[in-house]
Amino acid sequence: MDFLPIFMNLHGRNGLIVGGGEVAARKAALLQQAGARIHVVSPALSEPLQAMHGRGEIDYREGEFAEGDLDGMTLVIAATDNEAVNQQVSELCHARQLPVNVVDNPQLCSFIVPSIIDRSPVQIAVSTGGSSPVLARLLRARLESAIPSAYGRLAALVESFRDQVKAHFDNVNARRKFWEGVLQGRIAEMIFAGDEDGARQALEETLATTDDGPVGEVYLIGGGPGDPDLLTFRALRLMQQADVIVHDRLISKEVLELTRRDAQRIYVGKERDNHSVPQEQINQLLVDLAKEGKRVCRLKGGDPFVFGRGGEEIETLTANGVNFQVVPGITAALGSSAYAGIPLTHRDYSQAVVFVTGHLKDGTMNLNWKGLAQPDQTIVFYMGLKGLPVICDKLMEHGLPADLPMALVQQATTPRQRVFTGTLGDMPQRIAGETIKPPTLIIVGNVVKLHEKLSWFRSQAMIDRGE
Ligand code: SAH
Repeated sequence: MDFLPIFMNLHGRNGLIVGGGEVAARKAALLQQAGARIHVVSPALSEPLQAMHGRGEIDYREGEFAEGDLDGMTLVIAATDNEAVNQQVSELCHARQLPVNVVDNPQLCSFIVPSIIDRSPVQIAVSTGGSSPVLARLLRARLESAIPSAYGRLAALVESFRDQVKAHFDNVNARRKFWEGVLQGRIAEMIFAGDEDGARQALEETLATTDDGPVGEVYLIGGGPGDPDLLTFRALRLMQQADVIVHDRLISKEVLELTRRDAQRIYVGKERDNHSVPQEQINQLLVDLAKEGKRVCRLKGGDPFVFGRGGEEIETLTANGVNFQVVPGITAALGSSAYAGIPLTHRDYSQAVVFVTGHLKDGTMNLNWKGLAQPDQTIVFYMGLKGLPVICDKLMEHGLPADLPMALVQQATTPRQRVFTGTLGDMPQRIAGETIKPPTLIIVGNVVKLHEKLSWFRSQAMIDRGE
C-alpha cells in the first residue's frame, strides 16, 4: 500500500489553495463541499473563483505565494502552473509537516486526492496511487452506476436508528445480522423506492419483533477454479457477510482475499506434513460453529457438488438441524475448458462429455473404462495427474487410438495456468521432464485439437516462458 486512505474532517478548518486558475477553482469547490474555510493566494483569479469571492465563500489574498500564507493552515493544495512555486510550496509544507497536495505531481505530494463517489454520508474514494487518474475515473464511473444515489438516504436511516438498535441487542453478532437484514432486504428496497416513512416504520416493527439469540447458518459456496472474477454475485455477498471462513487448499489466495476482512479463517486443507483434517471432523466443525450462532462460509474450490464432498458436509448439517444454503461455482472442467480454449462439446468432434475422478487407489482406478472409451466423447479427469499413465494405458486398452489428443491444464484460470497437449500414446513422456504444479485437470478427446486455434487466455506463467 503506497498510500493510506483516510477521511479527514475539515469542517471549519483552514485550507489554502495556491493558484487562481480553473484547477484551483475545482479544488476550492471540493474543499467547500467538505466544509473547510478556504483561503486562496494568487496574483489573479479565474472567473469561478471570482464568483466565489464575490459570494464571500473564499478568503483571497492577491499576490505571489509567501511562506506566511501557510500559518494556521490544516491542509494545502498547490495548483499553479509554475513549477518552481509548486516545488517551493511542497518543500515548505513538508518542513512544517503540513499535508500538501501538488496537482498532477505525486512526487511533491504528501497526500493525493482520490476520485470520489459522494453519497453522503456514504463516501467512496478510489485511487490508483497517482499512477492512472484516468483509470480511477473509469472505476468511479462503474461504481457510480452500481450504487444508487439513495444509498446516502439509507445510511442516514441507519444512523438515526443506531443507538436504538445498539440498546436492543447486546451481542455484536446479532446486531450485525440485524443490520444486514435491513440493508439487504425489504427496508432498503423501500428507501430505494422513495418510501422513507414506510422504511422507518418497517424498521421499528422489525426491531420490536426481533429477539437477541443469533441463529447460525452455513453457506456452502463454490469458490470456482481460481480467478476471483468467476465468483457469482451471491458467493461474493455471502463471503462478505460470514463470520467464519472454512477453506481448503484449492481456494486461491485471490478468492480468499475477497472474504470479510475481520472474519475468522480456518484452514482445513493439507498442511506441509500432508495431513488434512479428516472429513468427519470438518462436518462436525461446521455444525459446532453454526450452533454457536456463527454464519459460516464453507468455501470450496470449483463447485461444491462436483468431487467436492459438499453432499457429505450438508448431510451432517441436516442431521443436526442446521440451516444452510448452497452456492454453485464454476467447476474446474468448465474453467479449464474456457481458459484453455477447449470446448468440451463441439458438433464436429464430440457429442458428450463425462467428468470422472482419476484418483489412484492402490495404484489403480476402478472406472468403467468401456463406457469411457467411446468415440465422439470428451472425458475430463479430475485428480488424475498421478494416474496419468494408467489413464492413457487403460483408454488405449479399451479401444481408443494412441493418437487421440489430450490436454493437461495446470492451475486453470490463474496467473499460473499452463496447458500441455499430447496424445494418449505420448503424453506421459511429454510431461516427464516438466515440473507440473497441482491442481491439474486432464481433458481427453478430439476437442483438444481446437486448443491451438481457440486458446485466448495468456497467463503470466505463459508470458514469462515466452509461450
Ligand atoms: N470441486 C472441485 C473439484 C475438487 S477435486 C471443482 O468443482 O472443480 C480436485 C481436483 O479438481 C484437482 O485434482 C484438479 O483435477 C481439479 N481442479 C481444481 N481446480 C483446478 C484448477 N484451477 N485447474 C485445474 N484443475 C483443477
